Amino acid sequence: MTDRLVLVINCGSSSLKFALRSESARQPLLSGLAERLGTAEGVMNWKAGDAGEQVQLPDGRHSSAMASLLPLIARFAQQPLTAVGHRVVHGGEHFTGARVIDDEVIAAIEDSSPLAPLHNPAQLTGINEAMTVFTDIPHIAIFDTAFHQSMPAHAYRYALPEELYTKHSVRRYGFHGTSHRFVSTQASLLMGMEPGHGAWLTAHLGNGCSTCAILDGRSLDTSMGMTPLEGLVMGTRSGDVDPNLHSHLARTLGWDLERIDHMLNRESGLLGLSGLSNDMRTLVAARAEGHAGATLAVEVFCYRLARSLAGLAVALPRIDGVIFTGGIGENSPLVRELTVRHLALFGLAIDPAANATPPGNPARQIQADNSPAILVIPTDEERQITEECLALLDLAATQPVEQEA
Ligand code: ADP
Repeated sequence: MTDRLVLVINCGSSSLKFALRSESARQPLLSGLAERLGTAEGVMNWKAGDAGEQVQLPDGRHSSAMASLLPLIARFAQQPLTAVGHRVVHGGEHFTGARVIDDEVIAAIEDSSPLAPLHNPAQLTGINEAMTVFTDIPHIAIFDTAFHQSMPAHAYRYALPEELYTKHSVRRYGFHGTSHRFVSTQASLLMGMEPGHGAWLTAHLGNGCSTCAILDGRSLDTSMGMTPLEGLVMGTRSGDVDPNLHSHLARTLGWDLERIDHMLNRESGLLGLSGLSNDMRTLVAARAEGHAGATLAVEVFCYRLARSLAGLAVALPRIDGVIFTGGIGENSPLVRELTVRHLALFGLAIDPAANATPPGNPARQIQADNSPAILVIPTDEERQITEECLALLDLAATQPVEQEA
């Protein structure tokens, strides 16, 4: 079989991230990021092996960024594209897996837009522009929420009046599904288990952070909820707070919803706690210099992460392993160590030498003797998206795809 190629697209309101992946290669053939779209300073950086370049996009249009991909793909792809895979943040309850994009899928993404007002409209723009440029091949949507559609009602329902769920879709959805799915599958391979099997607690720790309980490839619970604000402490997001905080701030400080929303999403988390930075690298360095705010931020981050993992453990019949991934999870021995220290009740303990980050940061086990497995697994969401796109096409080739939306 020829080595099929997928262009993976992640479109934001002012950015366009892309990667050209082949079925067999572990690294992208071409990848890049267009930024500051919507301004006169639009710019795109790309790299392919040793080659790379910065391209100005003076009209700052998504369509120009998308069109500038065509010659690059012609240059670096050995054969025509098989498909374009689009990351879509919110699929509501419409999607449990990847879907070939048609009018019905677009309508369902629009329908879910009130649940992700910053993301879904931008991703629809990306889909429309890409469909104009890359014609005659399937465009496939991969939803961050789809993996978590296997959660049981006792995990996804809030204790709120029923009609908020039935009429207004208020429930827990969860995000980062592509990453949680990818690392749990890799964990089963690393541990010599049947691919996709096992009982895992995963921690995806990047700028956004979430945990997940996964049994045999199915998400049973996760820390994020209706929006990606619920759950863990993140770079600038608060994670869980008392739901009465809104009314308290409105009554005592006169803050309106927009002000509160901005504070919880942009001024809180590691940044708010430390008063210094949202970036874990900066905080780890400042903590080593004795910075009190950075020290507190790292401690709260790790304690709340451990508490979330411990809570999610009740969804599983056993723990085959705890998995750390994302920029922080893959690169911070300190965060892993401080977090696991709070999980001694589960018999979890880290081997300090294995926990130190080696060059290249390959997937590995870092637990001490007699501890359940603790794994560091670099995530690769683009690879997961590529695999899901190709699996969907293979399925469609053998049977008609069932319509869910
Ligand atoms: P995104 O969610 O945007 O994909 P990443 O997964 O790249 O983000 O994670 C970004 C986070 O990873 C930042 O907080 C960054 O400081 C942190 N990080 C990266 N390298 C290290 C490191 N060596 N030590 C601690 N934190 C790190």
